[in-house]
Amino acid sequence: MKKKDQAMRIRFWGVRGSIPTPGREFIKYGGNTPCVEVRCGETILIFDAGTGMRDLGKSLIREFEGKSLQLHIFISHTHWDHIQGFPFFEPAYHKGNVIHLYGGHSVSELEKLILGQMDREYFPVTLFELAATLNFNSLKENPFYVNNVKVYYTYLFHPGLSLGYRVEYEGKTFVYATDNEILTEPEMEGYNEKNMENLIKNADVLVAECQYTEEEYLKKVGWGHSSIEQVIRVSKMFGVRNLFAFHHDPMRTDGEIKTLIKKAKKGAGKKLNVFAAREGLIFTV
Ligand SMILES: [Zn+2]
Ligand SMILES: [Zn+2]
Repeated sequence: MKKKDQAMRIRFWGVRGSIPTPGREFIKYGGNTPCVEVRCGETILIFDAGTGMRDLGKSLIREFEGKSLQLHIFISHTHWDHIQGFPFFEPAYHKGNVIHLYGGHSVSELEKLILGQMDREYFPVTLFELAATLNFNSLKENPFYVNNVKVYYTYLFHPGLSLGYRVEYEGKTFVYATDNEILTEPEMEGYNEKNMENLIKNADVLVAECQYTEEEYLKKVGWGHSSIEQVIRVSKMFGVRNLFAFHHDPMRTDGEIKTLIKKAKKGAGKKLNVFAAREGLIFTV
């Protein structure tokens, strides 16, 4: 029993960047946009509310069978691909559930941005039908605690900014860092590397966006996304153990992801494991 409580269990519900990608070429890794669940003992943390959140909601309802849920949702930023699953998140419609949302905007702004997508012009169900208690929290203290889980956050480089989260529990570290351009211009590199060091140092698990190859990145400098080569460079530099390449480009087919990861593993060396994030994948540390 004690052993189970100390585990950190990560489950991927949506791993695709920018827009959902249904279709035969996207079945293996999945087409839903970002949503990652992290269980730290009894505490349930959720990173981003992309379309993968719909299946997570159904799974939670099945698992807890009418028991009240306390859920903690961390939003990286409010671009569509990171919030569109929320109106379809079943636990939000059940009385007795308490949903805590955390993000970088002020409380009223975060609420407006998350719930604004449920305005009648965009969505048929009104806000009043959300029977769960919703608590919006804008982040101030850093680090802060959710039960006995320590959370640290930092701003990443992305249009409109994005938050990266570092979670520590029972000596294990999980980091969620998506929608982040690792800058390579000499004058920015010092700032960027320090920022990344504070966030990812010695992480057991790093879920990081790897939207581009280095070749693609050079055509899209300033768009707010990174190449897998740059993510591997900083992961090695700061002692990350397991990297999950995440936020796959919507054009990237299953076959192309497989090839990309195979090549990336060669460049990663012996100390860093590289995996492709995939819908349904569970990883326990
Ligand atoms: Zn995104
Ligand atoms: Zn974004």
